[in-house]
Amino acid sequence: MREFIIATHNVKKLVELDRILNPLGIKAVTADSRGIDLSDVEENGMSFKENAAIKARAAFEECHLPVIADDSGLCVDALGGRPGIYSARYGGESLSFADKITLLLAEMDGVENRTAHFCCAVCCILDDDRVIEVEGRCDGTIADAPCGDGGFGYDPIFLVDGVSFASLSAEEKDKISHRGNALRLLRDALSKEDI
Ligand code: IMP
Repeated sequence: MREFIIATHNVKKLVELDRILNPLGIKAVTADSRGIDLSDVEENGMSFKENAAIKARAAFEECHLPVIADDSGLCVDALGGRPGIYSARYGGESLSFADKITLLLAEMDGVENRTAHFCCAVCCILDDDRVIEVEGRCDGTIADAPCGDGGFGYDPIFLVDGVSFASLSAEEKDKISHRGNALRLLRDALSKEDI
């Protein structure tokens, strides 16, 4: 198994990555577990793609091993694409997800157009010469009220075909999610590389 460093603290992302990349002989390990400290990395890009690249580059400069970073978020059409790249910081970083959801639903109160999408950009740096960048998306709508008790983040209010992400099993979500779609593109790209 070839180890890839994953620039995330989110264990759910790591597990998802590991599951999708395992068949290629890739084992996903956290940056933390290899003593790589990314706490100072400023996600100051203007897009998901830029932020993923910033995180991947910072990790690669630390270890010079293959790295993968992702950046994702929820884009609501009626809010001009917000919270978008600021999804994690929406309403303030210290606001709980239950409160972020309440805030978003308040902003959407009475709004008829409830279309939204999740976006996930992934940047993989294999070595000094090879960088793979992919993006996945999942279209849906914003619910009137939270529904389901699985998943994380905005899952309880994101509906696909009327069913919330939080009501799906992890496997069901993987099949349609922005991250699942991005990681399948990454897997296809990596399958053509000599790793
Ligand atoms: P980051 O990609 O770790 O910077 O986080 C992006 C933000 O979007 C986080 O606050 C997540 O909770 C949210 N987010 C990203 N993907 C999902 C998802 O699949 N479900 C729910 N929320 C998500």
